[in-house]
This record gives sequence, C-alpha cells and structure tokens, in this order.
Amino acid sequence: MKELVGTIVAAHGRHYLAEADGEKLQCVTRGKKTNVSVGDIVHLKKTSPDQAVIEKIEERKTLLYRSDQYKSKLLAANITRLFIVIATEPSFADDLVSRALVAAEAAGIEAHLILNKTDVEELLPRARERAALYTNLGYPLHEVSAKRHPEHALATLLPLMQGESSIMIGQSGMGKSSLVNLLVPDADIAVREISAALDTGKHTTTFTRLYHLAGGGSIIDSPGFQEFGLYHLTEGMLERAFVDFRPVLGGCKYYNCRHLAEPQCAVLGAVGEGKIARIRHQLYAQLLHESSQTLY
Ligand code: GDP
Ligand code: ZN
Repeated sequence: MKELVGTIVAAHGRHYLAEADGEKLQCVTRGKKTNVSVGDIVHLKKTSPDQAVIEKIEERKTLLYRSDQYKSKLLAANITRLFIVIATEPSFADDLVSRALVAAEAAGIEAHLILNKTDVEELLPRARERAALYTNLGYPLHEVSAKRHPEHALATLLPLMQGESSIMIGQSGMGKSSLVNLLVPDADIAVREISAALDTGKHTTTFTRLYHLAGGGSIIDSPGFQEFGLYHLTEGMLERAFVDFRPVLGGCKYYNCRHLAEPQCAVLGAVGEGKIARIRHQLYAQLLHESSQTLY
C-alpha cells in the first residue's frame, strides 16, 4: 500500500488526528510510544478508511515542550513563530511572558508579542510601559483590538503568519480565543469535527489543535496558558535563552559561573548597572533552581 505523509493536527492523550491528502485520519502509535506532537510530519499506514498507524516521525525543525510537574512533555513541533498575547486588562504576568520567551529562544523560534484590547485607552499607556521590557530586548509588539477593530487586527496579524507555522498562547482573559476566531473563522466547526473524530467526549476544547490559515500557513491553538516545559534545558542553554544576558556571557571571572552570587560576575554586574532588568535575572535564578529539582 502507498505510504501516506501527513501532519498531526490534534492530540488527545495517546489519540492523534492526522491530515493527509485532505483527509483526516485517526492515528495511533506502535506500542506504547507517546512521542508524537501536534505539528509533526508523520508517515502513516492506513488500517481502515479513516484510521492509520504512525510509522515514522520526520525530523523536527523545532520542538516546544509543555510543563508537567517537573517533567517536559511535547507541546508542538515544527513551529516557526510564537505569539504571546497580552492585554491592557486583565494584568499579565511578566514571569509567564518571559518563560515563553525563554522557551522560544531555546527552541530557535521567533517570538512576537500581541498587545490586545488597545480600545481600553485608559490602561494603554501602562501596558505599553510594561511591554517595553520586551520591545527593548528586540521582540516585536503588535497592537490590536480584536473586539473594536477586528479588520485591523486581521490585517496586522495574518501577514505575520502567512507561510509560517505559528502558535498562539496567552493567559486567560487576554483575548486569545477572540483572535483565533478572527484568524480561523471556522474554528468552532473544526473543533467539533476534531473532537468527534478523536472521541474526546464532553471536554471538547481541552486539546491542542492545528488550523490552516487562509493564504497559507498554520496556527496552533493550545487551551489555557501553556506553562512551558523548560526542564530539558541545560544550564548553558538556559543562560543563552535570556537574550539580554548574551552580550556579557563570557565576561564572568569563572568560566562555569552560574550568575547567582559569584564574585566578578558580568551578568550580576549588568543587573547592577540596570542593563539587565532585575526581574529577568530573578526569573533566570528561579528557572535554574527549578531545573535542579527535575525528577528525572
Ligand atoms: P481568552 O481567555 O484569552 O481566550 O480570551 P477571550 O477571547 O475569551 O476574551 C476574554 C474577554 O475579553 C471576553 O469578554 C472578550 O469579549 C474580551 N475581549 C477580547 N478582545 C477584546 C478587545 O480587543 N477589547 C476589549 N475591550 N475586550 C476584548
Ligand atoms: Zn556570571
């Protein structure tokens, strides 16, 4: 039988849905393997008209992990752009934004911020001021209002996603669902279709899924805010994932400096001079601590 190549468009436990030649196929892995992720390009062998076995996963360009109690599990494969949705209100958490940025840097993914709800004008100056922490690091910020100016939001975001494999994440209430519904008008139908095919029962929105975008490209929507799994990062990867640390790395007195309390540490020096924001260094120290708690 002819070998099929497809893309994993949804995952729910060990059940996967792949799209191949315009068809959707329920897939399982051989044995107990669970190393498949949404976004994976897979080689399939059909076992019935709508079912297949995953024979092989193609080498991934990038891989993002989600956090699962001091373990990292697969979140999305082959992503090229990460969009972090923040808003004028409710208030967003800097450590969650920075964790997402660290995950993107470590995976080699371009990260962008979307500031939604710009129509809440009285809170806009404060949100911009807070977002400057990230724009100063070089991350692009796109201001939109999904509700008040949906056409503008689409015209701003769609071109950034054309031809890219994107993932959108955000804390609850930022307006991520509103934006996804703008970008993918038939998202609801797709979710119902996927949920029926995966037989997920009532909890229809609790799975990560991939949508195709008009004009090319795709977007992965993941329920809730993804706490990114960063436990697989080595200390060397972690320090380099902080883009603001990079210019001074190598300037520490000790070659194996962990930038916590060592004398003549270039990173701590830059924090003291205000060149590295203190909350970024605090998060670095926290992540270093967490990675030493890893259970495996
Ligand atoms: P999610 O939790 O991030 O998926 O956010 P939702 O898309 O469900 O939106 C949360 C709330 O914010 C809803 O009440 C939306 O109507 C509202 N909302 C979304 N976008 C905007 C916007 O651009 N401006 C304003 N004022 N409210 C918005
Ligand atoms: Zn140091």
